[in-house]
Amino acid sequence: MSIYENIRSVKHRIEEAAKRSGRNPEEITLVAVTKNQPVSAVEEVIKAGVRDIGENRHQELLTKYKAVDSNVNWHFIGHLQRNKVKYIMPFVYLIQSVDSIALAKEISKRAEKIGKVQDILLEVNVSGEATKYGFPPKEIAPAIEELAQLKNIYLKGLMMMAPLTDNIERLRPYFAEIKRIFDDLYRRQGPNVEMRYLSMGMTGDFEVAIEEGSNMVRIGTAIFRP
Ligand SMILES: *Cc1c(COP(=O)(O)O)cnc(C)c1O
Repeated sequence: MSIYENIRSVKHRIEEAAKRSGRNPEEITLVAVTKNQPVSAVEEVIKAGVRDIGENRHQELLTKYKAVDSNVNWHFIGHLQRNKVKYIMPFVYLIQSVDSIALAKEISKRAEKIGKVQDILLEVNVSGEATKYGFPPKEIAPAIEELAQLKNIYLKGLMMMAPLTDNIERLRPYFAEIKRIFDDLYRRQGPNVEMRYLSMGMTGDFEVAIEEGSNMVRIGTAIFRP
């Protein structure tokens, strides 16, 4: 299987999952996660028609951004240290993994310096696992009130990493809970808050995530496995 064929197969599965939940497949954004992959793999993904690329390390993102001669959307999806924000700020499209108020403040400060308003998602730690980054569900609404004060960020939604499990059906209630929170926030938008993206679902669980309301999936393994 080539990258091209893998992408076709992933897109087909996205479509089927969207139809099962009565939604338009076009509403669902596929982010190809190219971490640990060479630049040539990123180029193949882009040739196959994917416009959204996800990386989880600032240095790798920077290297690939410089090497790839295409106008695509670069997503940051890993834990971002505050002192690294400035390096990716000029070109990053969406920082999906904002996991603290302090990080959001740094992003806003750096964005202001270069005259940008940076789109971000808040990362949700749905299972409360101490090893995971992100806001526990109860802290999301208060966090948003604080973030609404920051002028150079634009909050565009939520990102969730599902807990590890060998039974993906067990994840369904977690996805559903985040969808409920997302819908609830949807009704309370502000000048720099617009709940547009619900980023959940990876190789092992993206169909269940879509069935439960995800509109952005982050897929690595299913695209790059041989
Ligand atoms: C690696 C990674 C993914 C993709 O995971 P796969 O299981 O390889 O599809 C998605 N999101 C984040 C935050 C990741 O680090």
